[in-house]
Amino acid sequence: MTKNVSATNRVALTRLRELSARIGSDPLLTQASTGNSSIKLDDVLWIKASGKWMADAKREDILIPLDLAQVMERMKQKIDPADWYRDASIETAMHAVLPHRVIVHVHCVNTIAWAVRQDAPAQLEHQLDGLRWRWISYVSSGLPLACEIEKVISASPDIDVLVLGNHGLVIGGDNCGAVEDLLSQVQQRLAICPRQADPTDYAALAEIADGSSSWDLPNDDAVHALGTDAISRSVLSGGLLYPCQSMFSNSSTPGLFHSVPCPGLRDRWESRDCTRPFLIVEGCGVMVRRTMTHAQRAMMSGLAQVIQRISSAAPLRYLTEEEVANSSRMIACRYRERPDQTNGEAAQRDRPLPLRHQPASGRRPRQARSC
Ligand SMILES: [Zn+2]
Repeated sequence: MTKNVSATNRVALTRLRELSARIGSDPLLTQASTGNSSIKLDDVLWIKASGKWMADAKREDILIPLDLAQVMERMKQKIDPADWYRDASIETAMHAVLPHRVIVHVHCVNTIAWAVRQDAPAQLEHQLDGLRWRWISYVSSGLPLACEIEKVISASPDIDVLVLGNHGLVIGGDNCGAVEDLLSQVQQRLAICPRQADPTDYAALAEIADGSSSWDLPNDDAVHALGTDAISRSVLSGGLLYPCQSMFSNSSTPGLFHSVPCPGLRDRWESRDCTRPFLIVEGCGVMVRRTMTHAQRAMMSGLAQVIQRISSAAPLRYLTEEEVANSSRMIACRYRERPDQTNGEAAQRDRPLPLRHQPASGRRPRQARSC
């Protein structure tokens, strides 16, 4: 991919890959193939390929080159570049409109725990005081989000931190070092101590699963807090908080996240709950389908980390049904794996994406972002 790239630019790309790998290896910043990074070099936008994991950046070619002028031209025509360049990240438009040379976008759990609050802008005013930051109310990924960001940047060109409502965090800078430093600073300022949950009742969960080979108990203790912590169950019962929540569950309704009482569960789950991809069992913990992919499990861990950082008093802003439907339609298949991909081997995480240099004449836009 970098055969025709200058030595200087190769160094810059290597630094972005190293930074991406560090960010991607931190489950508090990215989960599965969420998050993305980019660098602009000589009018080329190098951006993370859709479906790739940032954690794999050092051992896999996760960046694809796009002609920045052509990307901007598509956007002028109201065509989402992610629809045109099928292998590019869904957030390609956002990376293109931001003026920074290096950009990272992360689903930082601490940021999301603030960004799902109705009073987030006021809360963040205090937390991020002194930084050049702006709040972007929730809007769908892709072109709609890029348009909102463009408005903000037009009014305040020096902004380098964006907090995306019900979504995540964007950091921009001149180089990878500056971006990493700023990301670290924002992380520290937004850090929330997760609640301590009651212990997982593995015995009860094992008893419920007894006789069925289709269920697993997650090996991430934090996930079980979704069932053992009463505040978490209450937060989850209110609705969906951010798009990935519906993506990993393959569900656009919050009912899946409602806990089920433990007593007598085993007697009735075959009829009522047998089709669920996971089961949040009140006071016990969580059971997941063996068919749940590594990516889905990673996103579930991320959700648990977010929920454990939301206090019972927080006024929450849940996604509307329309927002959930829109985001599900647009991006679900980009993060979803094949059902048979259940282990953590990087090579098996995603479909192979044929990476190539910028197509000479562009591509036809897809009809819709569907699978
Ligand atoms: Zn995102």
